[in-house]
Amino acid sequence: MSSQQEITTTVYVALNGSRYHKAKDCVGGFGRYNSARALTSSLDEALQDGRTPCEMCFASSSEGPT
Ligand SMILES: [Zn+2]
Repeated sequence: MSSQQEITTTVYVALNGSRYHKAKDCVGGFGRYNSARALTSSLDEALQDGRTPCEMCFASSSEGPT
């Protein structure tokens, strides 16, 4: 077994968006657009790009519709 200390968190960003998302099809970020516009990025890159976390994606860790 090997220990992995460098885990890259993948997030999704929109070209014109200022936030990053956990969900590729987040309605808060891509609902009105095509989810295909969601670009994958690393969390580190998103933060360096000055993006802020999507409230809908990071508000709660529980899954399921509200
Ligand atoms: Zn989101």
